[in-house]
Amino acid sequence: MSPSLVTVAYIGATILFILSLGGLSNPETARRGNLFGVIGMTIAVLATVFGPRVTPAGWGWIVGAMVVGGTVGLLAAKKVQMTQMPELVAAMHSLVGLAACLVGYASYVDTSTVFATPAEKAIHEVEIYVGVLIGAITFSGSIIAFGKLSGKIGGKPMLLPARHWLNLAGLLVVVWFGRAFLHAESIGGGMVPLLVMTAIALLFGVHMVMAIGGADMPVVVSMLNSYSGWAAAATGFMLSNDLLIVVGALVGSSGAILSYIMCRAMNRNFVSVIAGGFGSGGGAPAAGGGAAQPAGEVSPITAAETAELLREAKHVVIVPGYGMAVAQAQHTVYEITKLLRDKGVSVRFGIHPVAGRMPGHMNVLLAEAKVPYDIVLEMDEINADFPDTDVSMVIGANDIVNPAAQDDPASPIAGMPVLEVWKAKTSIVMKRSMASGYAGVDNPLFYKDNNRMLFGDAKKMLDEVLAALRA
Ligand code: NDP
Repeated sequence: MSPSLVTVAYIGATILFILSLGGLSNPETARRGNLFGVIGMTIAVLATVFGPRVTPAGWGWIVGAMVVGGTVGLLAAKKVQMTQMPELVAAMHSLVGLAACLVGYASYVDTSTVFATPAEKAIHEVEIYVGVLIGAITFSGSIIAFGKLSGKIGGKPMLLPARHWLNLAGLLVVVWFGRAFLHAESIGGGMVPLLVMTAIALLFGVHMVMAIGGADMPVVVSMLNSYSGWAAAATGFMLSNDLLIVVGALVGSSGAILSYIMCRAMNRNFVSVIAGGFGSGGGAPAAGGGAAQPAGEVSPITAAETAELLREAKHVVIVPGYGMAVAQAQHTVYEITKLLRDKGVSVRFGIHPVAGRMPGHMNVLLAEAKVPYDIVLEMDEINADFPDTDVSMVIGANDIVNPAAQDDPASPIAGMPVLEVWKAKTSIVMKRSMASGYAGVDNPLFYKDNNRMLFGDAKKMLDEVLAALRA
């Protein structure tokens, strides 16, 4: 392929990536968005492989690497549970970081590039230094995020004494060695500062994510997504590949916007998230129960009584959470919704921006179960309607419906916007025990007079509710 044809292909791929991101912002267009992304990536790979910068001698390597990478990706995608998606995403981000580091080292030792001026050489070396720096932080930070999200590392923030000073000292050393790297006479001489900086960047990535508490992990995942984009853009600069620069910038900026939206959804300040220390435990899924002890009396309810309440209601709002994903109860939720709507009951869904374990988690599950999009509403769209709701049904959600976020300034989740389910005439919380949710805090909703607890696995209990409704 001629260079001009490659440029045209790259422009086409860029447009497809932008359309892809636009499509992914809405469940109705997400499938199309994904397709645009796949077509864009196919064009990008083909144009690069058959472009002027890859010789046919390299095709074997590329195909071999694609077969190995594709197989690993395919197996991982088949094996991973929906609830493990955030860990998988964190693991994938670490690979982008690693790739940026390896490309950085490879282009530094590659002597085939001839620079027209010393300034050009210096710019290339700055690109390498910054690219390896971002890549190493993304790599080690993502590995720690993976450990925290999968519960292999505790969610408790690790706060070293004088940690901000340690970070500052690290930054100064990185800048100092950057100078040494640019002034190095030979590749061997530049290798030492590059290696020292890489080691510091790796430690910084570990330190940064270790200092962040379990409750802030959603923001960290999207922040690392953003970093992986910048790492890819840096790789694009090192390889002088315009498409990689554009795509990296798209991922970097969309990740940054998502981090901002999630911070707003949790009423957190981005800087204080990065500074760390918030959220006690619960890095692992809540199945094992959190740190807080239950305080108060609750009123249990049976599946048959729940069905009775639903049958008599005019307006029902369902609030799904992480537990619905664990129980894979979405299909039964759909059956119940359909049955109630056929009987003339208005059923709508209230979705919190950080419900579940990844952005859009609930929307994906409900779309999979064929719940119509027009009854699935955002938190801000539905919160004012709870006082006019007869039954609010909470399915495996906890933190996102915790009134302590509004009432208790001392609560670790104080200020986080929540779905005000307790304002309905009756709220029903479906979960297996009194265990706390991801943030590890007790939930005063359970003890409210108008709240009922339907204890048990969400799928099992909803099957019983459905059977009672059909009876
Ligand atoms: P929570 O983790 O607060 O609560 C989920 C509840 O589901 C638990 O209390 C658990 O109680 C219950 N549960 C678990 N398994 C089942 C089951 N099989 N059947 C019925 N219930 C079950 O989830 P929320 O969705 O309310 O809130 C999300 C939390 O996760 C927030 O704190 C958010 O910050 C965090 N987070 C969000 C991410 C995102 O991007 N969306 C990413 C990472 C974290 P029990 O054990 O008693 O059954």
